[in-house]
Amino acid sequence: MDAIIKKLPSSPLRADVYAAPEPIAPRPSREDAEAAVRTLIAFAGDNPDREGLLETPKRVISAFEELYAGYRESPAEVLDRTFSEIGTYDDLVLMRDISFHSHCEHHMMPFYGKAHVAYRPVERVVGLSKLARLIDVYARRLQTQEHLTSQVASAIEEILKPRGVAVMMEAEHTCMSLRGVEKPGALTVTTQFSGLFRDDPGEQARFLTLVRGGAR
Ligand SMILES: [Zn+2]
Repeated sequence: MDAIIKKLPSSPLRADVYAAPEPIAPRPSREDAEAAVRTLIAFAGDNPDREGLLETPKRVISAFEELYAGYRESPAEVLDRTFSEIGTYDDLVLMRDISFHSHCEHHMMPFYGKAHVAYRPVERVVGLSKLARLIDVYARRLQTQEHLTSQVASAIEEILKPRGVAVMMEAEHTCMSLRGVEKPGALTVTTQFSGLFRDDPGEQARFLTLVRGGAR
């Protein structure tokens, strides 16, 4: 943790907002990880040495590096470029229907859906693509949807210092739709509000109306 804080000396962030969990050291080698996949294939009941599966451990580990890239990325770096030229603009900025996918930390199965993010800027705004990237940084880790929602909101809060942040996430959890209780289509909705979105019911209602405003 100390090392991470030192790398970003100018960052006003609380460590728990942006830091990835402390990794175990040394990181297992790629060969170790591929061997673990072979074990899982055998456990499932198949033969990891049959032709169709020979390259599978390699592919699975490559996919892992992509799906869990968020452990090696920093939200503070994603939001490091802000723009101060917002003229007389004085209202919320909303980005709606941002697709995301993550993996639940209980089953390592995907959950995926839409995120809606709004903030009320004070002097500084970020490029809209940065909000989407911020979600990916956190989503590409093992997560709970609740934690993911609050981390996205807290990072915007800490980095941009806006008058308020609103985050809503709606996702289908495959650990619930494909196994377990098997309820496909059920959506889990989480929200986190801060500043004026938390304190002013009118602003909160406006956010929800704007989120629901589009065709679905
Ligand atoms: Zn799960």
